[in-house]
Amino acid sequence: MIKVNSVVTMHYELKNVEGDVLDSSKGQDPLVYLHGAGNIIIGLEEQLVGKTVGDNVSAVVAPEKGYGMPVDALIQTVPREAFGDEIDKVEVGMRFQAETEQGPVPVVVTSMDDATVTVDGNHPLAGQELHFEVSISEIRDASQEEIDHGHVHGQGGHQH
Ligand code: ZN
Repeated sequence: MIKVNSVVTMHYELKNVEGDVLDSSKGQDPLVYLHGAGNIIIGLEEQLVGKTVGDNVSAVVAPEKGYGMPVDALIQTVPREAFGDEIDKVEVGMRFQAETEQGPVPVVVTSMDDATVTVDGNHPLAGQELHFEVSISEIRDASQEEIDHGHVHGQGGHQH
């Protein structure tokens, strides 16, 4: 059964409320994570406690326990001049790393007009309810070293 310090191997599919597939491990290696270490979305981790090998789990995760709610402070409108010569390449939907006082932040261009460019630094899934389908294929106890590091070693984990 999955509990704190279990190493869990699972396949997963993530859909939004409309049923669009946003992410999936299908056709790839399964996800391997250390339970209780914040390796995965907290709302999903909570719903996997007590599950066992062979279980298929449908988990609905509210935004508050997923990628959070969008924050207005992360939406910024800047003058076109801020982009210098690069402005010719800027278009709505473009993603890039914005340099901020807190370091680089991934942002997306959400709108542009004659004078300004608006960028949004919120996570693309902020504010969204997440619908996970998970199938658990393996559970083992973590090693002391994995617990100390807070992540999985070996296949599907850190190679160091
Ligand atoms: Zn490590």
